Amino acid sequence: MDKIVSLCKRRGFIFPCSEIYGGFANSYTYGPYGVELKRNIKDLWWKMFVSDREDMVGIDGPIILHPKVWEASGHTTNFNDAMVDCKKCKNRFRADHLVDEATGEDMEGKLDEMTAVFASGKISCPNCGKKDWTEVRSFNMMFETKMNTVSGEEANMAYLRPETAQAIFIEFKNVIDSTRVKLPFGIAQIGKAFRNEIVAGNFIFRLREFEQMEIEYFINPKMKWEKMFNDWLVFQEEFAYRLGAKKEDLRHYEHPDEKRAFYSKKTIDIEYNFPFGFKELFGLAHRSDYDLKRHAEFSGQKLEYLDQETNEKFIPHVLEPTFGLDRSILVALLAAYREEEVEGEVRTVMAFPKDIAPVQVAVFPLLKNKENLVAKAREVFGMLKKEFRVEFDDNGNIGKRYRRQDEIGTPYCVTIDFDTLEDNTVTIRDRDTMKQERVKISDLAEGLS
Ligand code: ATP
Repeated sequence: MDKIVSLCKRRGFIFPCSEIYGGFANSYTYGPYGVELKRNIKDLWWKMFVSDREDMVGIDGPIILHPKVWEASGHTTNFNDAMVDCKKCKNRFRADHLVDEATGEDMEGKLDEMTAVFASGKISCPNCGKKDWTEVRSFNMMFETKMNTVSGEEANMAYLRPETAQAIFIEFKNVIDSTRVKLPFGIAQIGKAFRNEIVAGNFIFRLREFEQMEIEYFINPKMKWEKMFNDWLVFQEEFAYRLGAKKEDLRHYEHPDEKRAFYSKKTIDIEYNFPFGFKELFGLAHRSDYDLKRHAEFSGQKLEYLDQETNEKFIPHVLEPTFGLDRSILVALLAAYREEEVEGEVRTVMAFPKDIAPVQVAVFPLLKNKENLVAKAREVFGMLKKEFRVEFDDNGNIGKRYRRQDEIGTPYCVTIDFDTLEDNTVTIRDRDTMKQERVKISDLAEGLS
């Protein structure tokens, strides 16, 4: 992990944010290559789950929604984490995580029992080593903000959305009224979510501000949902493979009855083998008609679907495949990272799948100060940029340029040399095999596809 973090900074993928002010815990900036990787992953997701499917449409809702949304969804009362403070060093921790680490017992939600474990002296503060704890308290994870309308009234309070899903449910009626969707169909959204996580950490795995890619897939409550649920699991895994994940690094964790929300018929986490263990990458939940029903109740609106064939009206059930974008990026980075020995030196390569690599082709003039080489290289660059994400690089010797592009994860490097001026051929160097091949400029685009 340390190597990934340092490569990400060195090569402009991800920077710790606000560094010039001494840093700001657990916030990161996607740098020039990181932002490309992120965009490519979002585009891949949108293509797989929206554009390429006839049963999906997308929306893009705001981050600040009507405060009643969060009452209806249950977030204002239930979206809590258990926290405990060290009285000596004043650091705050997730109580259930510390209890789990110390005892192996999952006590999520059992505040009194956890307080007893802390009081028994079994747990030392990970920061200062003392055993002087406060009692375990519940902490709402929504970020609050105030709207500048009428001062001092409660209605001013608003929240930054802690998930994108609710923005979909509240537009259900608008989508069915304005499009020709028929059950089963899904509404997708990509966007920021905010959670006041007590302990963030593990690089971009757990952030306070992150992006989700979520789908609410509406189905007829009478339909047999089990097959469709399994199909969604397969689609989600397929997306993980497209990021570069290997089969053996993925596994399922099915939530047992006592941990599952009462309205959910089934919930599965798709976990990835991160350097800090198997942890949730994506989730899939059957949420029944809970959300639409609650919004119907709180808004007083009918959120029903009319089946044109049977003339039946009902509230659909929903399957919710949810994907974390930042965790997807982390998987793409981890899965791509390779170190290999080449002629006594260590070569570091980010072997991204070609469609998500930030740069697809790098174009080099062999020498920087030869005008005719540079002009020809610019011509090739101009030609390739119509089809590919291309970077022009004339800095340093060719070996150094290859090393840099290997670390950025560029699948191909194209070099323009003196022979090019004679016969219009260039060399293509393959990132993974390091083999070089000479091809005609006119065949180049095909050779790179
Ligand atoms: P966790 O158990 O890891 O806190 P969760 O079960 O609360 O996750 P969901 O509410 O199901 O997560 O959110 C959907 C997806 O959003 C997760 O599968 C994950 O990929 C992503 N996600 C959730 N919380 C964070 C976070 N703090 N930082 C980055 N990504 C997150």
